[in-house]
Amino acid sequence: MQIIKLLPENLANQIAAGEVVQRPASVVKELLENAIDAEAGEITLSIKDGGRTLIAVTDNGKGMSAVDAEMSFQRHATSKLSTFNDLFNLSTMGFRGEALASIAAVSHVSLTTKSEEDVTGFSIRIEGGKKKSASETICPKGTHIEVKNLFFNVPARRNFLKSDTVEFHHIEDTFIHVAIAHPEVSFKLLHNDEVHYNLQSTNLKRRITDVLGKNAENRIFPIACETDIVTIEGYIGKPETAKKTRGNQQFYVNTRFFKSSYFNHAIQTAFEGLIPDKTHPIYFIFLTVDPSRIDVNIHPTKTEIKFEEERFIYSILHSTIRESLGKFNLTPSLDFELETAFDLPAGFEKKPVVEPTIKVDPNFNPFQPFEKPKIHQGSSSSDRGVKPKYQNARPEDWAAFYAINEEPEAPVLMESALSLNLDDLVMVGKYAICSYPNNALLIDTKRAAERVLYDGIIDQFVKQPLHQQMLLFPFEKSINLEEYRAIEENKSILMQLGFNFSLTSERLVIQGVPEIIPENSLDECLNEILTKLAFTTDLKEDLAHILVLTMVKQSVAFFTLKDKSEVFYYVQKLMECKDWTISPSNQKIMLSLPLEKINQLFEKHV
Ligand code: ADP
Ligand code: MG
Repeated sequence: MQIIKLLPENLANQIAAGEVVQRPASVVKELLENAIDAEAGEITLSIKDGGRTLIAVTDNGKGMSAVDAEMSFQRHATSKLSTFNDLFNLSTMGFRGEALASIAAVSHVSLTTKSEEDVTGFSIRIEGGKKKSASETICPKGTHIEVKNLFFNVPARRNFLKSDTVEFHHIEDTFIHVAIAHPEVSFKLLHNDEVHYNLQSTNLKRRITDVLGKNAENRIFPIACETDIVTIEGYIGKPETAKKTRGNQQFYVNTRFFKSSYFNHAIQTAFEGLIPDKTHPIYFIFLTVDPSRIDVNIHPTKTEIKFEEERFIYSILHSTIRESLGKFNLTPSLDFELETAFDLPAGFEKKPVVEPTIKVDPNFNPFQPFEKPKIHQGSSSSDRGVKPKYQNARPEDWAAFYAINEEPEAPVLMESALSLNLDDLVMVGKYAICSYPNNALLIDTKRAAERVLYDGIIDQFVKQPLHQQMLLFPFEKSINLEEYRAIEENKSILMQLGFNFSLTSERLVIQGVPEIIPENSLDECLNEILTKLAFTTDLKEDLAHILVLTMVKQSVAFFTLKDKSEVFYYVQKLMECKDWTISPSNQKIMLSLPLEKINQLFEKHV
């Protein structure tokens, strides 16, 4: 007896529909993406009753011939993919060819379409997967599709739908994701004949501000970074726009919206210290990667995407945002409550430590090009192959900084330090001591050098692979399996940092290393790096940060700091760094002791 039967096509489509079409917003996503794939310049989405009664999309794209229009409703019918290899080089949104078939299986669909070449258009009506009518018709070029009575034949699904308001909210989200990814296309959204969005063709920044609403223009600023593996572009909201609720946090890869708590973490931590706890920054970030380096075979309704180079992208994303925040002066400055760090005599009243506060110049216009800094007078920045990171520290900026910072003791420091003379420096061990009006300033010079070197490298890291020194003789090292895996998995980060090597499961052969690594400690430094690579398994740790810090520490360990002019160089460079009071491993770089405090110390009777 035969008990195995093939599912009727209809039923198979209904089952597939269960995955593709979960709610009206899923239909909207598929239809909008089809219109984009058809190269439409204008797209109108019209919704009735949260999408329950009607979802209609009109586009002026390339349309379909009568044959294609009939074909398009068959499962696995697609014009976008014909060979297996195409799968890895997709530039279109759809590729599975199951959306229209699935939608038609659970609704009443009518489609009217005409291609450029055809004189007449074609109209077809399908209900619950069955063709009801098809005829020639007169219509303009493009496609108009209406999806009515969604889930009319799947009562369980229909009952599962939320209120019209909630469903429309999901539709609106989907609409915005597509609209932001395609600013060159005009979009219109109507709900029950009321216009909710009418977005004109424009550039990305305008599209984002059109969606965010009034005054958004001055509240976002651009980020950009290009590497071999990923290009990052987009806009992030200034710290003050961070919200208690998540929203307007959008990632796109190759113009496809996706969600990633992992990359979100990279951004959230880049904003650390700038926004209050439990608030979320706004961002619209576009990644471009080689399509063969992401997993395309994702489920159509899923918004998670698997990246081959996620750890690399995490580091780059984090550093790029840190850098932009610094560039646009949106960085925390520590208030100078430094005297609390001194070991003060008993009974001497300690003030509570003041939390870092955010100094934001409300009039600061991030879109104005920066002038070259005027403060730098010492040795040229190329001396050590390290570019100063924050070149934007203009005298006016400092003026603004002081205007906001009303803490006593704080203001004088920067200006005096900037006009520091070599002769003012005295070295006591690794500490530089200098005087400036009514204060004694103590600087841990090794930490100062760490900060300067670190910022220089991270700055290069987000722009291009680091300066590299080729070794005269390749350096060979035997490695274990664990180390092999760690290197293999993080190859791109190592290369971006300036390592040049070949690898077998037992041997690492190094041809080039980042300039910063001291030659005489190459082996030691490599061991450190391998240990860090093997042990930093938590993906949410910024590996680039950890490796750069390791190299910097190794390098600084060799500093003798005997030469005062070398010390002077780092002290001056330090003043150009964004975080000039704390080292990259979060240690204090300097302390200031005001004269009045010194007086107080001496007032005590012996
Ligand atoms: P996919 O988008 O994965 O190819 P769909 O079921 O969404 O599958 O669409 C099937 C085919 O129908 C598409 O490949 C495309 O050729 C055609 N099509 C769908 N919508 C449109 C449209 N708005 N304009 C032109 N062609 C379309
Ligand atoms: Mg599609």
